Amino acid sequence: MADTEVAIVGAGVVGLAIAARLAPHHSVVVVERNPRPGMETSSRNSEVIHAGMYYPTASLKARLCVAGNRQLYEICARKGVPHARVTKIITARTPEELPPLEQIHARGAANGVELRMLTAAEVRALEPNVPSAGALFSPNTGIVSAHGLMDHFAHAAREAGAVIQPRAELVELARNDGEWQLTLRSGGEADSVTAERVVNAAGLDADTVAALAGVDVDEAGYRQHYCKGSYFAVSAARSRLVSRLVYPVPGHVSLGVHAVIGLEGRLRFGPDAEYLPDRRQDYAVDEAKRPTFGAAVRQLVPAIQDDDLSPDISGIRAKLQGPGEGFRDFVIADESARGHPGLVNLIGIDSPGLTSSPAIAEHVARMIEGS
Ligand SMILES: Cc1cc2nc3c(=O)[nH]c(=O)nc-3n(C[C@H](O)[C@H](O)[C@H](O)COP(=O)(O)OP(=O)(O)OC[C@H]3O[C@@H](n4cnc5c(N)ncnc54)[C@H](O)[C@@H]3O)c2cc1C
Repeated sequence: MADTEVAIVGAGVVGLAIAARLAPHHSVVVVERNPRPGMETSSRNSEVIHAGMYYPTASLKARLCVAGNRQLYEICARKGVPHARVTKIITARTPEELPPLEQIHARGAANGVELRMLTAAEVRALEPNVPSAGALFSPNTGIVSAHGLMDHFAHAAREAGAVIQPRAELVELARNDGEWQLTLRSGGEADSVTAERVVNAAGLDADTVAALAGVDVDEAGYRQHYCKGSYFAVSAARSRLVSRLVYPVPGHVSLGVHAVIGLEGRLRFGPDAEYLPDRRQDYAVDEAKRPTFGAAVRQLVPAIQDDDLSPDISGIRAKLQGPGEGFRDFVIADESARGHPGLVNLIGIDSPGLTSSPAIAEHVARMIEGS
């Protein structure tokens, strides 16, 4: 008999949400290479509860973001996770940007997202420091404490009997006699656990873990690219210039440098999008980006000067699309058909992965419990 029914690789927000969802019905072990859960991408992001207007209708990103948005507000209210429904505008800086905004409006409506167009005068009344030709208003975009959310999922998982094992890096994954054998490196020691099923929620290394299981990641289209996003913080004196999330009309790779309000009221701008040539977790924020950031920030809030900006955090997206490539959806795949029964891979879980986490957990649970 295997040591556990389900082994989850990775204690980011996604692995923890899955553990919390499965633990009441299954024995669960979560293995995490870092000393604590949530030390990688899940604690290095905008902490925005997205509404789901950007993604192609019927994509997993659209469906799981819209469902996750509702579930997150409900969880936060019930469990006291710090959050705020601060709302958001996507602003057209010129009349030429109004048609793309209308397209986002139409797509959002098709995805089931509540949205409203605002006139230039209505934007001025809401955000006097944001010059605008009109904007799309999203009443259900908000912010959440990512750590608060992960603490909730970890607590719920443990209460239901799950074991979260930190400092345990998966280094080998083999299928023997109908069960999975996970070889772990724990400090200098080797350890192992057997499981009936493995859920790969390894974030930036989800493709590495899939390869350990024997999946040909290039053939499957699972190769991830590292796309770094840096933030600059605005001085306290200028932090009150906006009172909600303010986004530009999005670009090709990311949503564009935008104004992010923290739960403590701090204003930051970011993230930019910089593909890293190698797969290093380099989180340094380059001061030399200040003028480029300043220019992008002033497109939204002209009163903010370069001197008001200081380097803040960065995070790295696990992206399936390489530079210049088109939209790629989340991959959440039961790999039985590829000859790996009992393996579920989650690959390319970039934004809106934080928002979608409870809905991703539900989706994975249906895969596991329905089969
Ligand atoms: C700059 C930026 C801004 C973003 N903003 C938002 C936002 O505002 N809203 C939103 O919804 N989403 C946002 N996202 C996306 C969101 O942060 C991610 O989708 C989400 O955090 C992914 O969670 P995860 O659990 O899959 O990955 P991670 O948090 O990376 O967790 C994976 C875990 O797996 C562990 N691991 C990896 N390999 C192994 C191994 N071999 N053995 C053991 N453990 C292993 C890692 O240590 C890590 O802890 C943003 C992302 C970035 C980078």
